[in-house]
Amino acid sequence: MSDSESPKHPWTFARVRDLLTRRMVVRWAFLGFFVWLCVRLLQFVSWAKGEGPYVPRPEAVAGILPIGHFTSFFAWVRGGGWDTLLPAGLVIIIAAITISLLFKRALCGWICPVGTVWESAALLGRKLFGRFAPVRVPRWLDLTGRGFRYVLTAAVFSWLLLVSISEAVSFRTLPYMWVADIKIIQGFANPVMLGLIVFAFGLSIAFGPVWCRYVCPVGGFYSIFGIASVCTVKRDAETCIDCARCNRSCHALVDVQHSATVRAPECDGCMDCVRVCPVEGCLEAKAPGGITIQPWVWPLLVVGLWLAIYGGAKLTHNWNAGVPLDQFKSTINSGLLEQKTRGGL
Ligand code: SF4
Ligand code: SF4
Ligand code: SF4
Repeated sequence: MSDSESPKHPWTFARVRDLLTRRMVVRWAFLGFFVWLCVRLLQFVSWAKGEGPYVPRPEAVAGILPIGHFTSFFAWVRGGGWDTLLPAGLVIIIAAITISLLFKRALCGWICPVGTVWESAALLGRKLFGRFAPVRVPRWLDLTGRGFRYVLTAAVFSWLLLVSISEAVSFRTLPYMWVADIKIIQGFANPVMLGLIVFAFGLSIAFGPVWCRYVCPVGGFYSIFGIASVCTVKRDAETCIDCARCNRSCHALVDVQHSATVRAPECDGCMDCVRVCPVEGCLEAKAPGGITIQPWVWPLLVVGLWLAIYGGAKLTHNWNAGVPLDQFKSTINSGLLEQKTRGGL
């Protein structure tokens, strides 16, 4: 009898539901979707070059252009108007901030494909080396690394905020911006980039997702909103048996065991700690009014909100690019894609 047929593990609705809403299942689904989007974008390029059939440009790839779209986003916040040429980038930022304010830094915990690659590496490390991975760095080094990330976040976002509105708005009209996502995807095939990815993957196998914890300014930016999240994990000290399972399960190394309410900026609402707590009602995700959110409901809310914002943008014509197809075509054929990139947009 196979394991799946064993009476010990019947395929009940609850089991299937819990499996489908597991963090890595949701994450890998988004990663698969992202890879498919990249393929579609390259097919769009082939069409523009007259080498293949027409494929609609996948706008969601805008998520990989943080600098360009954050510049545009801050220009909009400061009264520079909505980006009608590539609005998807702004919609993604608004969606990520909204989700962070409601469900912790859930973009990082459930959706971001870059983080999924590093988390998968960390998972591989645990499979290969068991309890020896990830290697825990000394506390002073961890604090220094996290401090570095927030200093970097402050520096990058202050710099973006200092861009004048007129400059930021004119930036949107640069043909370079319209093909920057294509350049970044093509850049993944660059040997230097591939080497860096392999290096970061190896580091993540040994030490966990180091990019996310110690470097990524985008995650640092959303952390600020995550601290104020209206829904969060709460622990009932009365019923807690101090088993420390929550702390051991937390990939973000949050001290859940000694928190009444988890406000740590590193918490991305992954729900791992809630799932492993052996005492019913002791550790739960709570919405305002003390409403309990089951761990399998949390990702449904996160993904549902993400899709609702996308749907709203699509319905109100704030998603698709306003750049005419013939302009995309002429830009792709202008030689811009072959020019050396001066830093990621
Ligand atoms: S920290 Fe950065 S790379 Fe990591 S999951 Fe968050 S946004 Fe993605
Ligand atoms: S395990 Fe708990 S405290 Fe740690 S990141 Fe996930 S939800 Fe937050
Ligand atoms: S897993 Fe639950 S019972 Fe155990 S220490 Fe954490 S909150 Fe307390």
